[in-house]
Amino acid sequence: MTNALGIPAGIMPDYRREIPGPLLERTGKWVEHRHMQPGVFRHLADDGFECISVRLLLPPGGFLSSNTLRLLARWIREYALTGRRTSRQGFELVGVPPSRLAELLDEVAAHGLAVGGTANSLHQPKCCNGFIHCQNAVIDAPSILKMVMDRLFDGVQHHNYPAGLKISAAGCPNQCGGGIEADIGILGVFLDGPRVSDERLIRSGINVEYLRSHCPVGALHRRELPDGVSVQVDLDLCVRCTSCLLTAPEAIEMGVIRGAAIAVGGRGGGIKGTPRLARVLHHYIPAIPLNYDDLIGKIEFLVDRWCARAVPGERIGDFLDRIGWDYFRQELE
Ligand code: SF4
Ligand code: SF4
Repeated sequence: MTNALGIPAGIMPDYRREIPGPLLERTGKWVEHRHMQPGVFRHLADDGFECISVRLLLPPGGFLSSNTLRLLARWIREYALTGRRTSRQGFELVGVPPSRLAELLDEVAAHGLAVGGTANSLHQPKCCNGFIHCQNAVIDAPSILKMVMDRLFDGVQHHNYPAGLKISAAGCPNQCGGGIEADIGILGVFLDGPRVSDERLIRSGINVEYLRSHCPVGALHRRELPDGVSVQVDLDLCVRCTSCLLTAPEAIEMGVIRGAAIAVGGRGGGIKGTPRLARVLHHYIPAIPLNYDDLIGKIEFLVDRWCARAVPGERIGDFLDRIGWDYFRQELE
């Protein structure tokens, strides 16, 4: 059985249908990857065919309106062989003829989108949708990233950083938007623990042992009450992961002291180093929309110190390893 597009039902669509012939024919035959200018790079195949890609930065959060999609579709149709979503929620136009490159860049600029975020620059910001679409959000990840990027925006369009700089934000510790694998991760956190309504938990009929099994650190203790069984949160053990909230949203609410943590030094991998997790540098900064001055100031300070003292090719995590985490924390203080 096939659908209206002629695709067999019940299987994954074939990725090859999105790839034009000139690229498909050269699968596995690419020999060079060179950066031409911020946001523009060239792949060279062994037969001399060159494929220029243009990386566009899209608004943080991952949402795309039909207007923006139409614009991207038109640019693919008029200027490129195809398009590609990047793993960081950006977009690349792939296979732009050299003769059309300048015209495309002018048109992108005229539509208020930026080209950049390649090599040693500030890359596409990545975040979850936060309050826009999620009941768990502690901080408004998209507006924070918009303002952080506004402040650092020059970095998108030059290659003068010591290495690539990736900033991600997640609305809560679940990190759907990433963060702990970025050079700088902004993470929604709540300082006080989850709050349990005994009455609502008993009324909900949720199996308490099932609920307790979702706590990764054993912080939910069984609590016998005259009307039934509830749980008590051991705040010394609780790591504020929100797992109990997700399991029993009818009865458990997140705490009210909410803000952002900043983690630094993460990396998702790549050819220049192994993957590593970020470490928390600031465990709590107030982040009430749209007052992010303190948070942005701390990120700017971190980026300034890294730019001033890192050696070429050194990502933030490697820089902190070299100068010493404790030494850097003292400098911050
Ligand atoms: S990280 Fe938290 S706030 Fe963001 S989408 Fe995931 S659960 Fe929601
Ligand atoms: S927030 Fe996480 S660690 Fe804390 S009690 Fe709930 S499940 Fe356990």
